[in-house]
Amino acid sequence: MIACPDCGLLEDVPALAAGSNAECALCGADLERTSGRSITAGLCCALGTFILLIPGNLLPLLSVGIFGMHNQNRLASGISMLWDRDWLLLAILTGAFALVLPFVRFGLLSAVLATVKLGHRPRWLGPGYRWALWLDVWAMPDVYLLAGFVGYFRLIHVSEMSVKVGAGGYCFLAAAFLAMISRASIDRRTIWRAIAPEAEVTEDEPTVSCTTCDLVQPLDCAGRDCPRCGARLSPRKPYAMLRATALTIAAFVLFFPANILPMNTSIQLGRPVTYTIFKGVQELFDNGLWPLGIIIFCTSIAIPGLKILGMGWLIWSVRCRSKKHLAGRTKFHRFITEIGRWSNVDPFAITVFVPLMTFGSLASSDAAWGSTAFIAVVVLTLLATMCFDSRLIWDAAESETT
Ligand SMILES: [Zn+2]
Ligand SMILES: [Zn+2]
Repeated sequence: MIACPDCGLLEDVPALAAGSNAECALCGADLERTSGRSITAGLCCALGTFILLIPGNLLPLLSVGIFGMHNQNRLASGISMLWDRDWLLLAILTGAFALVLPFVRFGLLSAVLATVKLGHRPRWLGPGYRWALWLDVWAMPDVYLLAGFVGYFRLIHVSEMSVKVGAGGYCFLAAAFLAMISRASIDRRTIWRAIAPEAEVTEDEPTVSCTTCDLVQPLDCAGRDCPRCGARLSPRKPYAMLRATALTIAAFVLFFPANILPMNTSIQLGRPVTYTIFKGVQELFDNGLWPLGIIIFCTSIAIPGLKILGMGWLIWSVRCRSKKHLAGRTKFHRFITEIGRWSNVDPFAITVFVPLMTFGSLASSDAAWGSTAFIAVVVLTLLATMCFDSRLIWDAAESETT
């Protein structure tokens, strides 16, 4: 017996044959998928990512030359320059998402998958996998890679400039690529079942299901730690509505300075130029770089706006106990949870640019207040979608029948 993580329906999913998948009968969530999934492939990719991140962080990512002057950047050099210039929040969050957490996530994931593969079941395995899953959202080598691409194509557009991808850039490219494959090749349910089997409960017994690993337990276990993953068992995510509402309001308030204030400033031939998100997108279109313009428009304007409005709608509809579009709203919540992390492309692009575009008095680039507000919006909306519990959508429907 397992409980759907999105709508809470108790379903009996038998062990799946290879190459098949199980979907929730009520909301369509992927419950288990064995087609195209393999623990061995996941382990190889996770370990490969971890190893490639080392040269990817130590060696130069990009190098540029203009009028006989040369600059190169490493991931850490952009972060330390932002730190030195007192953009502390931007430096800390970029350092965490692009540098520190990818190492933690893929190190931990490799350890968990290797232990599962070897057939050992130590006590730390469940909590270890819970943390590795939680970090899936916050470790963003793939998003940083997209920011690197944006930076690269913007620089090669400058006619006087020579741009070269460094050895670190190729390692980072491979690491981010493997990270994406490892994400696609691991089925969460298969790993949870390998760590500990699903519980047996009778159909009419009142139950509580773990909000992390979906293990079903008798209702009187609520308040205790989940025997499989160690998370505190509660019928719904704690204070889901209160937290999601507070975080969404905070993100909404910061969305205005994030869009009105400049994201970055640059000195070009002694003249300061500032860029808001919208001006940056407009300039990309004006220069004929419309694919980049579309990427930045989607990640920096459309996704955060959609998330804030969407969370507002979800919270409002749960408050009104709306019984409409239950499956649609659940899918929408899943969708905005998935796409949210890609909003970080623009702030990451600043850390790519700052060390490359500092040529004494000729040219320089720096972050501006809008970027701090923007990265705060991204973090707040990510937290809001994580704190919200889509099972609350279905509680309204259930109240009708009981
Ligand atoms: Zn469901
Ligand atoms: Zn659990």
